[in-house]
Amino acid sequence: MNDMTPLPCASTVRSGKQARGLHVITWGCQMNVYDSERMTDVLRPLGYEAVDAPDRADMIILNTCHIRDRAAEKVFSELGRLRLVKEARAQAGQQTVLAVAGCVAQAEGREILARAPYVDIVLGPQTYHRLPEMVARAARAAGAVIETDFPVEQKFDFLPPEREVPAGGAAFLTIQEGCDKFCSFCVVPYTRGAEASRPVAAIMDEARRLVAHGVREITLLGQNVNAYHGDGPDGTTWGLARLTAELAGQVGVERIRYTTSHPRDMDDGLVAAHREQPALMPFLHLPVQSGSDRVLAAMNRGHTAQEYRDLVARLRTARPDLALSSDFIVGHPGETDEDFEQTMQLIRDIGFAQAYSFKYSPRPGTPASNAGAQVPEDVKDARLQRLQALLREQQDAFNAASVGQRVDVLFTGRGRKPGQISGKSPYLQAVHVEGPDSLIGQVAEVDIVKLHTNSLGGVLTGETDRV
Ligand code: SF4
Repeated sequence: MNDMTPLPCASTVRSGKQARGLHVITWGCQMNVYDSERMTDVLRPLGYEAVDAPDRADMIILNTCHIRDRAAEKVFSELGRLRLVKEARAQAGQQTVLAVAGCVAQAEGREILARAPYVDIVLGPQTYHRLPEMVARAARAAGAVIETDFPVEQKFDFLPPEREVPAGGAAFLTIQEGCDKFCSFCVVPYTRGAEASRPVAAIMDEARRLVAHGVREITLLGQNVNAYHGDGPDGTTWGLARLTAELAGQVGVERIRYTTSHPRDMDDGLVAAHREQPALMPFLHLPVQSGSDRVLAAMNRGHTAQEYRDLVARLRTARPDLALSSDFIVGHPGETDEDFEQTMQLIRDIGFAQAYSFKYSPRPGTPASNAGAQVPEDVKDARLQRLQALLREQQDAFNAASVGQRVDVLFTGRGRKPGQISGKSPYLQAVHVEGPDSLIGQVAEVDIVKLHTNSLGGVLTGETDRV
C-alpha cells in the first residue's frame, strides 16, 4: 500500500457494556480506524464502554501512525497532554491505563517507555488480540507492558468474531496486512511485517455479519491489498478478484472498494473484475508516487511511469467511468527538476479525481533516510505547491463535472444543517441533501445540483435502494 492514505482523525469508538470508560484516539489510515474498532471489540467483554473525552476514560489508547511527518514527536507531544489527564484523574482517586498502539509503538516502543514512563502499555499492530492479557498484566505489574513482537499466530484468529457494526451502512474489513515491497521511503514493512492474507472463510463470515447488520458497502483493507492471496475453502489460493466476486455474489455485498493497491499487483484478473463486477465501485486508489523512472527505481517501486500509464489505460478500457486517486511524494532524495517535471506531466496525462501528496521526509531506519542528495526544504516546498495546485485543479474539474449528473448515494449520517443527511457517491465524493434520517444506511438516487468547496449538494429523486 499505502502507500499513504492519511486520514488523520481522532475518533472515539463506541462499545456496548456499562462499566469502565474507554477513549481511543486514532491517527492515520483506514487500517488504524479498523484496528481501533477491533481493539474496542476485544476490550468490550472486560466491561469497557466508549467515552468521548479522555478525562472520563479508565483506559486511553493512542493508536498512532508512522507515516505522518515527525510522527514520533507528535506522539510524545500528545502523550504529554494525556499525562496531565492521567495525573488529574489520579488526584481524584481514579486510575487510568494509558496505552500506545500502532506503527509508532511498533517502531519506537522502547523509546516511548524511556521518554514517557507514565505509559502503561505499548503494543504493536500484530498484538491487539493480546490486549486483555496486557491490561491484566499492567494492573498486576509495577512496570509497563511492551508487546511489539510479530507473534507466530495470526492476530485475526484470536479476535472476537462479533464486532460493533458502524452505523451508516459502510464498514471497513481488513483482509491483508503487511508488505514485502520495501519502498525506500516507507516504514510499513518494518512496522507491520511481511504480507499476510486472512483466509477466505474468515473474511466471508465477517462480511456476512456486517451485511446482516445492514452494511451495504464494504471497503476491503490491506497495506498492499491487491497482493491478497488467501486460503480458499476449496483448497486453492484466492486472489482479490475472486474474493470480491464471491463477496458480491454469495454474501450480497452491494458496494465494494479496496485500498491500498500497488500497481505491480494489479493483475489481469483484477483489471477484468472492474468490467465484470458491478459491485466494484468505479473509483480506485492506485499510488504512483512519481512520474520519473529514475525516482521510481530509487524508490524501489518496481515499475516505470509508462507501465503505470499502460495499466491505467487497461483499467479505463475495462471500466470507462473509472476515476483514480493516487499518492505523490515530492523531493525524494536525488529528485531533480526534470524528474519533478515528469511527475507533473504524468498527472496531466492521467488526470486524477483526488490525490494525496507529501514532501519527502526521512523515516528512521528506511533506506532513503540515509541516501545522499537530500532535496533542500525550500525546493520541496515549491514543488509541492505546484503539484498540489495541479491536483486541486483536476479535483475541482472532476467534481464540477458531477453537477447535473444523477448518482447513487449511500447515506452514512446526518449533515451539518438540520434536516440534512450526507453520504458518498460512487466516487467517494461527499454529497449533502435535504432528506429524512430514515435514509441513513440506504442507497438513494440523487441529482447533483451544486458544487461546494469539498462536497456536492444534491436533490433526492425519490428512488431508493439503487446500487
Ligand atoms: S513498502 Fe511500498 S508498497 Fe509497501 S506499504 Fe510501503 S509504500 Fe506501500
